[in-house]
Amino acid sequence: MSTRFANPLQADCEQCFGLCCVALPYAKSADFPIDKDSGVPCSHLQTDYRCDIHSTLREKQFKGCTVFECFGAGQKVSQQTYANITWQDNPAIAKEMFQVFPIMHQLHEMLAYLQEALAHKEAYLLFSQLKTMLEKTEQISNLPGLQLLDFDISAHRKKVNPLLLEASVLIREKARKQVSPKNMSRIEKRRDFIGANLQKANLQGLNLRGALFIAANLQKANLREADLIGADFRDTNICGADLRGSLFLTQVQVNAAIGDRETKLPSSLSRPPHWK
Ligand code: SF4
Repeated sequence: MSTRFANPLQADCEQCFGLCCVALPYAKSADFPIDKDSGVPCSHLQTDYRCDIHSTLREKQFKGCTVFECFGAGQKVSQQTYANITWQDNPAIAKEMFQVFPIMHQLHEMLAYLQEALAHKEAYLLFSQLKTMLEKTEQISNLPGLQLLDFDISAHRKKVNPLLLEASVLIREKARKQVSPKNMSRIEKRRDFIGANLQKANLQGLNLRGALFIAANLQKANLREADLIGADFRDTNICGADLRGSLFLTQVQVNAAIGDRETKLPSSLSRPPHWK
């Protein structure tokens, strides 16, 4: 739960009513020391919506909180959808607000992906469709809370995803030529890389959408221009790996991985403070 600046698609915790700390559930695991239901304020959330263990989250076993990123959904719901009326001041809207937050989170994630696709000139053939979808998604995110609750987010995602995939193919076309066809086919067919040793592997421009890299070794791997949408990087070793130009990589994925000073990230993403 980081605090960054004016990008509306990045969390600005100062402008949010601690929504992720209330609306979302967590379960006792490697990421959290206790269980919490959705809609219940975390016991560490203070009345000013700050966290009383913010500087020691990892030491206190709240690693999950250092990974999460709301894509700006928190400030949008707090400041725009509910016009700066807090769930503390108006408990009657609390339940609705907490249900709207995860929907806004998904919408903002889609907005971030669409914006990223539009930033690549290789996808110019799709610019008009991408722009229309971006505008449509923005319009939906501006709906009042009750209308957002009625909105079919899965159906909308099914319209956005194929467009992102088409854009990805266009953007990666040149980079894919850096990998031998045999390797490409072998890797792209496999989705499960849990615990795999891919040290120094050349994965440039590959389609790695939704791949499971949990606890895998991607040290010094080349992931430039690879499509990493939805890939699971929990405890993945990306020390020294090159992820510049990778597609649809999010701050959440980076926060979940283990990197170092030598890890090369896309310019839009930050090096997590917990990396060495
Ligand atoms: S520990 Fe802090 S950051 Fe994590 S949910 Fe609780 S209040 Fe929020």
